[in-house]
Amino acid sequence: MPPVHIVGAGILGVSLAAHLIRRGREVVLVDPAPPGSEASFGNAGVISRGSVMPPNAPEVWRSLPAYAFNRSAAVRYDIKSLPRLAPWLLRFLAGATPGRAAATAAALNDLLAGALGAHEELMALARCGHRLRRTGYLQAFRTDAAFRRTAGERALLDRLGIAHTVHDAAGLRALEPHLSAIFRHGVLVTGSASVDDPGAVTRAYADLVCDAGAGLVTARVQGLSARGGGYTLHTDRAGDIDAEEVVVAAGAWSGAVLAHLGVRVPLAAERGYHRRYGFVGNQRLARPVHDVEGCYVMTCMEGGVQVSTGIELAAVDAPSTGRQLKAAEAAARTAFAFDRPIAPPWRGARPGLPDGRPMIGAVPGRPGLWCAFGHGHVGFTAGPVTGRLLAEAMATGQTPPVLTPFAPGRYVRG
Ligand SMILES: Cc1cc2nc3c(=O)[nH]c(=O)nc-3n(C[C@H](O)[C@H](O)[C@H](O)COP(=O)(O)OP(=O)(O)OC[C@H]3O[C@@H](n4cnc5c(N)ncnc54)[C@H](O)[C@@H]3O)c2cc1C
Repeated sequence: MPPVHIVGAGILGVSLAAHLIRRGREVVLVDPAPPGSEASFGNAGVISRGSVMPPNAPEVWRSLPAYAFNRSAAVRYDIKSLPRLAPWLLRFLAGATPGRAAATAAALNDLLAGALGAHEELMALARCGHRLRRTGYLQAFRTDAAFRRTAGERALLDRLGIAHTVHDAAGLRALEPHLSAIFRHGVLVTGSASVDDPGAVTRAYADLVCDAGAGLVTARVQGLSARGGGYTLHTDRAGDIDAEEVVVAAGAWSGAVLAHLGVRVPLAAERGYHRRYGFVGNQRLARPVHDVEGCYVMTCMEGGVQVSTGIELAAVDAPSTGRQLKAAEAAARTAFAFDRPIAPPWRGARPGLPDGRPMIGAVPGRPGLWCAFGHGHVGFTAGPVTGRLLAEAMATGQTPPVLTPFAPGRYVRG
């Protein structure tokens, strides 16, 4: 069989490549950057079992005034990008109903149930299991009010059977002795895990597939056209590449790639920043901590602590802004002691569809064209399980039931 061409070598592209190879397919990855350079490099490293609530849960209406005036560190937007973002935002808000949020949470719950196991499977093959910490993911609350406001999220975890434990200030100190005493409540999702370098894990998966014979073309796809029974990838550095099957796994740039074929998907870049800082003495956190009121996640990585911000809605390649990261660093310094920066600020883009679900599967009316993008906040978590399920769909022609809610047909007509 001819090779499958995968556009994008982030966690989605390389995980899918690994599973296609295991099913006996030849694979070529096409990416202008080394594997795992973009969002898959700089995320917070959480393999999150509990992140099933979509960003447009109905609670978003309560936060809307703060978001609208750009006063929230959790979500900011670039005013210049607003005209372009408006149709996406309208769809996002139209979907912010209890019924749709519950359906998306149930769908994501089914997908994420297999996420850690799928990472463990690839880690064993790629020999990078030493990077995994099965210590959960901790949400920490500074005030009783914020803890009470999120009771609905804990009720959802209960309904879906997602294991978690609730802690008071003393319990938090026992879990994380180096966390400062500002936190009054904590929720630990025990089935979550984390890695100490998500970029290194993605690169290890990429090495695995390249060692198994995958091709790696270092080039940007700047055009895509249909050709009798297949497609041609028009690249900047490798000329035209004919392909019978193409998977678009180009993260936040996937919409631009598909647009060359006239396929329109409402994909936004939910950008985020991080910065890494040196450790102070032996002070460490055993697991990633989400400071709910501080609107950042803090993860101890291999060489230092990483502070990762909330969402910035802006054009994917618009210049960086510094406000969210500055606020996140200031808040984080009140929660945990860390030293000076050890690397410059980093920016990445979470690829987001308005309904908070990824787009996984065949593009209607376009034989041989597949999607694997739009995983938003859970792309690092769900890359390997998506790869396994999509490889199954491509090999058998049958969509595994767990993928049905993520079908591209919900936005793309044949
Ligand atoms: C600050 C931050 C924190 C996060 N924390 C977490 C977390 O803790 N846990 C979690 O599960 N997720 C997290 N995420 C989300 C996660 O990082 C993403 O969902 C995931 O990495 C997306 O993977 P991807 O492979 O789709 O995209 P990417 O990793 O962005 O890869 C896309 C690839 O496509 C390539 N590409 C783009 N355009 C083209 C083109 N025209 N031709 C060829 N190649 C192209 C790019 O070079 C890139 O290599 C976070 C994201 C951010 C920004």
